[in-house]
Amino acid sequence: MSQEHRLALDNCIKCSICVSHCPVARVTDKFSGPKQNGPDLERFRLEEPAAVHESVGYCSNCKTCDVACPSGVSISAMNCKAKGEYVALNGAPLRDKILGRVELMGMASRLAPPLVNYFGSIKFLRSIGEKLMGVSAEMTLPKYAGKTFYQLQRKRKQYVSDQKIVYYPGCYVNYNTPEVGLALIDVMEQNGIQVINDKFSCCGLPLISNGLLKDAEAIAKKNIQKLQGYIDQGYKIITSCPSCNLTLRREYQELFNLNAEELNDEILDVFEYLQLLKQEGKLKDKFARVEKNYGYHQPCHLKAAGLGIPSMDIMQLIPGLTVQELDAGCCGLSGSYGFKKEKYPISKEIGQNIVRSVKDNNIGRVLSECGMCQLQVKHLTGLEVYHPLQVLAEAYSVY
Ligand code: SF4
Ligand code: SF4
Repeated sequence: MSQEHRLALDNCIKCSICVSHCPVARVTDKFSGPKQNGPDLERFRLEEPAAVHESVGYCSNCKTCDVACPSGVSISAMNCKAKGEYVALNGAPLRDKILGRVELMGMASRLAPPLVNYFGSIKFLRSIGEKLMGVSAEMTLPKYAGKTFYQLQRKRKQYVSDQKIVYYPGCYVNYNTPEVGLALIDVMEQNGIQVINDKFSCCGLPLISNGLLKDAEAIAKKNIQKLQGYIDQGYKIITSCPSCNLTLRREYQELFNLNAEELNDEILDVFEYLQLLKQEGKLKDKFARVEKNYGYHQPCHLKAAGLGIPSMDIMQLIPGLTVQELDAGCCGLSGSYGFKKEKYPISKEIGQNIVRSVKDNNIGRVLSECGMCQLQVKHLTGLEVYHPLQVLAEAYSVY
């Protein structure tokens, strides 16, 4: 199905399945739902951009509606465009302009990561931040790592192989969880694959989700140009964050009409890539026993990519390991969404299914590929949450 077709309004058969699946519409009446904000209002928006209703700001861009829609309508893309039109007409609050620039915040944190973490944990300061900026004082802020992934990668002895891949870590791995990026390098090296050292910009999703589409488009153009250079040399681009992956592969095309379709086969989720190695009989399958039990939360953007759960396929090769799907839907955080004062209660309410599943299944630790899901699950349950790559690296570590 072509992208134009996906976006065609007339595909909507008004079944309202998207409404019954939307996690935001389930918990609040401030959002009039995917059907009304998507295909219904899009007709008016095409004629008159000022017809954008501010309710569209409550769409979290989780993309659950896209997965549910039987007609393949790209509802979330319509909502993102509508948010962009709203911001273009009315401007964005300073808070959203800051939250959209995750990379800039990461760079600023480099001045003194421990101090930034410390100030971010003081309740009194967080309350002031909530009053002045509208950033929820309740939501746990992500902790910045002492050294970025790129710094740590440069310090490592470069493994050399004829087989090479390019790794696109994304901002959260670079600034907050560099151990995930290092686990990816370990896993690749165990399979005889060299990870090329290079730095990349933010994918632009935080800007997109905050309606700052012009800035996001400029970043998208730069990213495509750089990635294309590697693809032309025959390298695959590997991501470990499902949201970065979906943005590079799909959002650039749906939102900005950038010709990313030809890049799609060359940009792979890390476990999708490992699955390919497995199919070709090239995956190293000697693993140490890992006698641990985990719950697993599938990020919405991995679901939206239509890849299934490739990490489950690989993790079931590890002896002793038990991984149980939480099967609890959206975590509710959706990037910067749950950090906003007015959206925090919605985000928390959406995430209660995860809290229940963790309790019912007596889960002690959780796995998830998305950094924001990791943060939200930890915030709501108090459990430690890891990327599946970390378990895989552990299982490889003694060989
Ligand atoms: S993207 Fe998520 S929040 Fe937005 S309309 Fe679709 S299901 Fe609802
Ligand atoms: S699920 Fe798809 S076809 Fe059904 S109402 Fe929503 S957009 Fe229309």
